[in-house]
Amino acid sequence: MESTDQTPLMLFNSLTRSLEPFAPVHPGEARVYSCGPTVYNYQHIGNMRAYVFADTLGRTLQWKGYKLTHVVNITDVGHLTSDADEGEDKMERMAAREGKSAWDIARFYQQDFERDLARLNVQPKQHPRATDYVDAMIVWGKSIADRHCYELDSGLYFDVATVADYGRLARAVTEDGEGRIESVEGKRNAADFAIWRKTPPGEARQMEWDSPWGRGAPGWHLECSVMGEALLGFPFDIHTGGIDHREIHHPNEIAQNQAFCCHAKDDGGLDDPRNSGAKIWMHNNFLIDRSGKMSKSSGEFLRLQLLIDKGIHPLAYRLMCLQAHYRSELEFTWDNLLAALTRLKRMVMAVAALRDTAMSAGVVTHPRLLAALAEFDAAISDDLNSPKALTVLDEVLGQKKIDAAERLAAIARMDAVLGLNVIAMSRPDLRLRPADATISEAEIERQLKLRKEARADKNFAASDAIRDALTAAGVEVMDGDPLGWEWAIRV
Ligand code: AMP
Ligand code: ZN
Repeated sequence: MESTDQTPLMLFNSLTRSLEPFAPVHPGEARVYSCGPTVYNYQHIGNMRAYVFADTLGRTLQWKGYKLTHVVNITDVGHLTSDADEGEDKMERMAAREGKSAWDIARFYQQDFERDLARLNVQPKQHPRATDYVDAMIVWGKSIADRHCYELDSGLYFDVATVADYGRLARAVTEDGEGRIESVEGKRNAADFAIWRKTPPGEARQMEWDSPWGRGAPGWHLECSVMGEALLGFPFDIHTGGIDHREIHHPNEIAQNQAFCCHAKDDGGLDDPRNSGAKIWMHNNFLIDRSGKMSKSSGEFLRLQLLIDKGIHPLAYRLMCLQAHYRSELEFTWDNLLAALTRLKRMVMAVAALRDTAMSAGVVTHPRLLAALAEFDAAISDDLNSPKALTVLDEVLGQKKIDAAERLAAIARMDAVLGLNVIAMSRPDLRLRPADATISEAEIERQLKLRKEARADKNFAASDAIRDALTAAGVEVMDGDPLGWEWAIRV
């Protein structure tokens, strides 16, 4: 192992609520499953925080030398509008609203999701679709039905009392009787959940399949158990999702995995980490938006595209995410985002200056750079302390006396973990054209040149007039900007 990669990787396991050393199930490999989107609508930037986190985890595992297999599923069969098997089917409702088939809706929003992932420099991952695994879900259901399930008119239900330690991940959801738990007539326990939902008599669904429990569709939690097992094998290393999934979706997945799992020791309980399907369960905290614009029901909600339309580079959003620890809430404000953009600009310009000096990245030998790499490693190994890792990157960017080629090499290694692409971007890449800007870049440059000439002639009336005209066109003239940025289009 290289001298810089010596700190053991510690990850916070929500199941034990403690930091644990990462010990791979398969030597040299890391297998990760991240709950993906329900593709009935665009993803908001809060959703994208979950994938930036999962991607940073994957990149960290690669930095540590593991061969990564990473799955992010696509939920393209509608689960219901509440986590708890109640409400309308999301896919079918959107299909009706948009006058398209549920299948077309799913394909469209999956593509949009994948485009946003690429814009955030999220590495390609496997994206299995739930609808491709319905047969496997039925096989799974059959294998657990006798011992763990019972049938009602509305479908096949999982009896949570048949597995040990149900709800440990959420810390006791079974007794709280909150509204989140489905109120289906005839259930044995409040927390029991659907493995299969029968299509109600007289109703037609676009997405339905035959099963031993009637025509209908799988319950939502089943797909992640089935695809995780099929693609990664039980037990796999790490399962991730947003913190909301710690309450219902993941406890239910774990219960299904226990029922299915062949490693049941004693009572098959969760003291044996193999019984939960994945050894470590990790959850990112939420992006909070106090303006209420993030909700998908709020008309024009906060999507990555909206940021881009305002001329803000999507990697500024990635940087904003990395500036907070993934287990902390992160408040979204435009000011925070613009501050992240400024920091990103500063980084990109510093790296571009290094590229101008050094023809290519060198080999890191300088003791201060080796120390910085070790510090960086210690930061990300401490449950992905990305805010700390970023400060180490900033330090290296500022170490002006060290050879440029060596610094470039160290920065490239850090960038591979942070995924900010500072190593390849240049200043013009960060300058996005806002969607409703009316003036061209060439025209702005021409006006600014005229303004400079007017100022040189001490014709301040003319130079002010040009500035006012530019302001009216949405262009902010940035005299004295510390980064040397001369103008920006604001919308
Ligand atoms: P969904 O499509 O609702 O299943 O959400 C996709 C992913 O985004 C899940 O892992 C959620 O837990 C996560 N998520 C939803 N809202 C937020 C938010 N505001 N901040 C961070 N993650 C979120
Ligand atoms: Zn899931």
